Amino acid sequence: MRIARVFTRKTSMTPVDEDVYFGVPPALLDIKYDEVHISCTFSLDRDVNTLASCWGEFGTVRIGGPAFGDPGGEFTPGLYLKKGVTITSRGCPRNCPWCYVPGREGKIRELEIHAGNNIQDNNLLACSKEHIKKVFAMLRTQKAIDFGGGLDCRLLKDWHIEELRSLKIHQIWLAYDNKRYLPAVKRAAEKLTKYFKRDKLRCYCLIGYGDEKITTAAARLKTAWELGFLPFAMRYDGRHYYTKDWSDLTRNWCRQAITRGIMKAGTEQLANQTPLFGSQVVSAEGGGGGLYEACGGEDNA
Ligand code: SF4
Repeated sequence: MRIARVFTRKTSMTPVDEDVYFGVPPALLDIKYDEVHISCTFSLDRDVNTLASCWGEFGTVRIGGPAFGDPGGEFTPGLYLKKGVTITSRGCPRNCPWCYVPGREGKIRELEIHAGNNIQDNNLLACSKEHIKKVFAMLRTQKAIDFGGGLDCRLLKDWHIEELRSLKIHQIWLAYDNKRYLPAVKRAAEKLTKYFKRDKLRCYCLIGYGDEKITTAAARLKTAWELGFLPFAMRYDGRHYYTKDWSDLTRNWCRQAITRGIMKAGTEQLANQTPLFGSQVVSAEGGGGGLYEACGGEDNA
């Protein structure tokens, strides 16, 4: 069965092959597909009716993707994510209030393991020990390994770290989304920094959730840095309004060249507890900001 995959926007994760398209059909397209799958990742792009009618003459249109609450089935390498990206489990046993995963995908489900060097599981460490060991065994055949889906620092055990040490690691991602996770993040940092340098230790930091103040978010990002991580700010997209300072903070902490520059130059400000963000720093570096740019920017490419 020949399937066209149509994406509403291109990201660092979308596949590239002759049956992948972005947006409306290209002019002079002369091909018939069995099915046309319109895949929508971001809720902002959910209005796909026009797109669906444009693609109707090329095959039976099906609409899906995370933005439509798709719980996801078995993973097929290269179909909706580029080659090298793999998913060995779906769902998550936790219930973080800012996260769509539990509602969309339910509790953890282990899938067949397909080879890949970028693990995008929501919570791999919540899987059975047997499954995790099989994933590590598969990863021993891979290079430049990226745990882009994130490892839950509350579940990180010594044997995981021993396994990680046996791999050709590009980046290990953890998350520090709320200050109450600090003890677990600290414990994970103490163990991981013995074997991995900052450029391999990344940390997603959700900022702006609920009534979080910008100073609290900035302090959490700095703490992640001080613990030995290279943080990556992700602005919560459910908030009504963000001031320019929030945009500056996001930008300063999602582009590693800027973050490193600020931290290198900012020792004095750090000591004085002055926030390391603001228009002065940003205008010296240039560039734009915002969550979606952050997610598709240089760090995640
Ligand atoms: S642990 Fe991660 S995937 Fe699971 S609910 Fe929390 S944020 Fe979502």
